[in-house]
Amino acid sequence: MDVLDTAAESARDTPAPAAVIADAAVIAHKFGGSSLADASRIRRVAALLQARNEKTQVIVVSAMQGVTDALLALADCAAQPKSDWRDRWSALSVRHLDACRELLGEYSASHEWLRQQFAELEDLLHAVSVLGIPGREVLERIQGLGEVYSSRLLADLMKQQGIDVARLDARDVLVVREADLGVSVDWEESAARLADWRAQHPQSRIVITGFIARDGNGRPTTLGRNGSDFSGAIFAALFDAAELHIWTDVDGVLSADPRVVPEAVPLAALSYHEAFELAYFGAKVIHPQTMTPALSRNLPVIIRNTFNPDFPGTRITAQSDSSGPVKGLTLCPDLALLNVEGAAMIGVPGTAQRVFDALRRADVSVVMISQGSSEQSICCVVRAADAALAERALIESFAPELARGQIQSITVTPDISVLAAVGDGMAGTPGIAARLFNALGRARVNVRAIAQGASERNISVAVASRDASRALRAAHAGFWLSPQTISIGVIGPGKVGAALLEQLREIIPRLRREANLDLRVRALANSRRMWLDELGNQDNNWQQALSDANTDCNLDRFAAHVRTEHLPHAIILDCSASDAVAAHYADWLGKGIHVITPNKHAGAGPLERYHAIRAASARTGARFRYEATVGAGLPVIQTLRDLLDTGDTLNAVEGIFSGTLAWLFNSYDGSKPFSELVKQALALGYTEPDPRDDLSGTDVARKLVILAREAGLAISLDDVDVQSLVPASLAALSREDFLARLFEADDDMLARFESAKKDGKVLRYVARLDSAGKASVGLVAVGSDHAFAHLRLTDNIVQFSTRRYAENPLVVQGPGAGPDVTAAGVFADLLRVSAALGAHV
Ligand code: ADP
Ligand code: ASP
Ligand code: MG
Repeated sequence: MDVLDTAAESARDTPAPAAVIADAAVIAHKFGGSSLADASRIRRVAALLQARNEKTQVIVVSAMQGVTDALLALADCAAQPKSDWRDRWSALSVRHLDACRELLGEYSASHEWLRQQFAELEDLLHAVSVLGIPGREVLERIQGLGEVYSSRLLADLMKQQGIDVARLDARDVLVVREADLGVSVDWEESAARLADWRAQHPQSRIVITGFIARDGNGRPTTLGRNGSDFSGAIFAALFDAAELHIWTDVDGVLSADPRVVPEAVPLAALSYHEAFELAYFGAKVIHPQTMTPALSRNLPVIIRNTFNPDFPGTRITAQSDSSGPVKGLTLCPDLALLNVEGAAMIGVPGTAQRVFDALRRADVSVVMISQGSSEQSICCVVRAADAALAERALIESFAPELARGQIQSITVTPDISVLAAVGDGMAGTPGIAARLFNALGRARVNVRAIAQGASERNISVAVASRDASRALRAAHAGFWLSPQTISIGVIGPGKVGAALLEQLREIIPRLRREANLDLRVRALANSRRMWLDELGNQDNNWQQALSDANTDCNLDRFAAHVRTEHLPHAIILDCSASDAVAAHYADWLGKGIHVITPNKHAGAGPLERYHAIRAASARTGARFRYEATVGAGLPVIQTLRDLLDTGDTLNAVEGIFSGTLAWLFNSYDGSKPFSELVKQALALGYTEPDPRDDLSGTDVARKLVILAREAGLAISLDDVDVQSLVPASLAALSREDFLARLFEADDDMLARFESAKKDGKVLRYVARLDSAGKASVGLVAVGSDHAFAHLRLTDNIVQFSTRRYAENPLVVQGPGAGPDVTAAGVFADLLRVSAALGAHV
């Protein structure tokens, strides 16, 4: 942005003669409305000033917080027929009179003065109501009154405290004129007027109205909304102050608007250019024009917190610091995108010029410009309020081309915001734009237009306003200005879910500290109810919150809450074993929500649904991870994926995928009936409540389907040859009857065991996918030197035979069941997805 340079140049052309001889002990202070919102804050400001040992204090004040808005609304309201403006007037008057009483006592001269002021305001408003329209001059006068009142309150309080203080109404000395880039100061005349005033008012502390001034004809005017910062810089210049301190309600200029990005951090130092760009693109904490007088005089501007005065704040000088290429990010809301499109523009010089001329004639200022290198279209961003005017101006200006079809369309897209990344260090640092677009892409933000200032100090992108907060937070995290924040919803906090929540609670603070990753558990659900929370603080007792919740479970609402607009990323962790939940995955992934689960129903469910899930994930880039579906926390799927991704080919997979069945056959030695062993496993919690769920082999078959699909085979559960250990005669019984009659299978099992033993073999329940793609699960006899013969307890084992691992298969082995290790598998997926989203894990 060269605006600042131009403005600084013109300020340098007419060097301001300082009204007062240079004195390093002159310090200017500006207090914003938030620092003067009520009597107690005004008292705090007086105390803060008194505590500072400065020879001369130039004190510029805003109106009490909200007063300028209230005055403008009042003028507007008075102009409406039959309005309630008197009630509003009275409320404003009471607010000031109350503050005055609280500061200066019941019957002070200031009180009387204020009453008089409000009587005059009432007369003015009455005139407005009669005319039915507030004239420009009246409006200028009315909106500046808040500063007149607040300055009097502060000055009178200081006087009452025995301080020698003068009050200056800026309309008496500060002369400004309308200019292209806002108002421009008549330095010569202002300085002369101030010198005259100073001759009469030699006090060492001067309280001055911010925001207001006089125009060339002596009429009251203002410096534009938020203009008191500019006033602060102007008076700092006129008094030749050594520094300007701008006091507000935050610790300085933050890396982003703290209302949108609560994690924003205060910046220690900024250059004038950086501060200007941030302010120009929406950082409300400082008015962009403030930097103009400061830059031309090398005046340090320090943004500080009235409510935390010991904090050093942000120092704005000619130098930046090198804390990073991007200092801050801003959002400029309420904009619209204008697009002029047509082949006629290709290679025709001056088209852009015509666009901007037309807009300029219509008095529309352009916030951002972008032209594709194909020259097929020019787009620019303007204020929403100007959009219709701008569209008309362009249609008129290009009427002949539109009629001839050389320009195809002139379109307006409403509800646009511009996000700008700002930093002097961006110039010459490659990869900044890539990082920004990466962060936005991962947060599924569609970029409508892009512009990079020639100074390379700023990259701006236009996005839909509904994406704006998410975009800002994503970019903020993308530049490491704050942690990568992820909104998490957990479904089915049974044993695995509970273990996962415990692991999360333990590790979240460390991840935030060390990995810049901020995981927020914002939603929990079981089959009956759900608990939704805004912040997702780890201090919540999550399980308790869910059992106290009285909202019926609705997975659509659940997902909508998890994928909130203001957080860049959303993940649902489905720890249920429910097919109905798996039926939602494609929809969630299609909406950009990542899904992580130990639930086998999606991976091994109907092929059509599986393909829909994959397609949704491919379309949006949302990830579907399910490492814990096979071998719990063991890296089985990841290992297979790594093999395939690195170009290996799978020949066969073989393994023991069930901890329950592993334990049963590791323990079975014929000395005790098999049915007794099953009951023992049930008592130990190694089996499902109904052991047939394990003995049927379906669960093992599901895991095999998942692995086969991972390897690219389009198979389903029906394609697996499953040899169940549940005799057909017992399959349909109740659970109790089944357990009571399970002994009926004992003889058969013993016979198989003995026969294997005769051959020097042992029984194992094995899953197999052979090189022809044939899948089977069932009981087999393996040699006593086979790897499967030497498993411990509930260990799982998976052998991958591949082109590279042909002779000697790659083996993954270890505990493959239990809530803790399964939860750890889910967690590992969560960290992998977080890393892909840009976290340092
Ligand atoms: P004052 O009343 O002191 O003039 P303002 O309300 O005009 O204060 O400006 C301060 C506010 O600006 C902060 O409270 C904050 O909400 C907002 N703000 C927006 N962007 C930023 C930013 N980048 N850094 C600091 N504050 C910001
Ligand atoms: N009171 C004015 C406003 O609200 C100026 C300021 O506070 O900076 O815009
Ligand atoms: Mg302000």
